[in-house]
Amino acid sequence: MRKNRWVFTLIVFSLLLLAACGESNDSSHKENADHDKSNDTPLKVVIDPGHGGVDVGATGVSGQHEKDFTLNVSKKVEKLLEQEPNIQVFMTRVDDQFISQESRHRPNYANEIEADLFISIHGNTFSDPNVSGTETFYYHKHSQHFAEIMQKHVVDATGFRDRGALKKDLFVVKDTKMPAALIEIGYLTNPQDESDMWDEDFQNRVADAIVEGIKEYQDRAL
Ligand SMILES: [Zn+2]
Repeated sequence: MRKNRWVFTLIVFSLLLLAACGESNDSSHKENADHDKSNDTPLKVVIDPGHGGVDVGATGVSGQHEKDFTLNVSKKVEKLLEQEPNIQVFMTRVDDQFISQESRHRPNYANEIEADLFISIHGNTFSDPNVSGTETFYYHKHSQHFAEIMQKHVVDATGFRDRGALKKDLFVVKDTKMPAALIEIGYLTNPQDESDMWDEDFQNRVADAIVEGIKEYQDRAL
């Protein structure tokens, strides 16, 4: 008699447990359905070619300007992103246009269109020509993961020293509301970095890496 009651209790308990599992399965399915829905909404990505116009940025060892390097790479990224059905690309400039820092146009533009990601492209500079490498800057905590993914992909493409993804108070990554990263591809003041950076194949590889980084972040965020 006692044994029967125990078996009965066990069966009831098992049934309750099954019901509970079934419920949580249902809710996870619902969650997946929601994710599928958000998958249809393209990711809005702003590409920001650093500097422009009278703001030439860094002047490299060869005398070429950072503003042209950033525009070259950005346009390659733009072209690649245009082929991605789930990504919508926006540029802060498409030619040699000067954008004043005071206007805060770069972050304001990204905030106004409610972009999902913001990527500013730059070339670095330092007084010591021996300093080289790739680094990515972010400001807000919600940008750190994105910056780390971008750094990983870009440093793989450049083959330069990995200087890491670091927090830095830069207005383009501070004033933007969405995850934002500023990538310093390499040092234009380092002769080896610079000669690579003006190479067409190198720029294509970097553009590919930036797109791969965006897609990895997009996949993880879903
Ligand atoms: Zn710069």
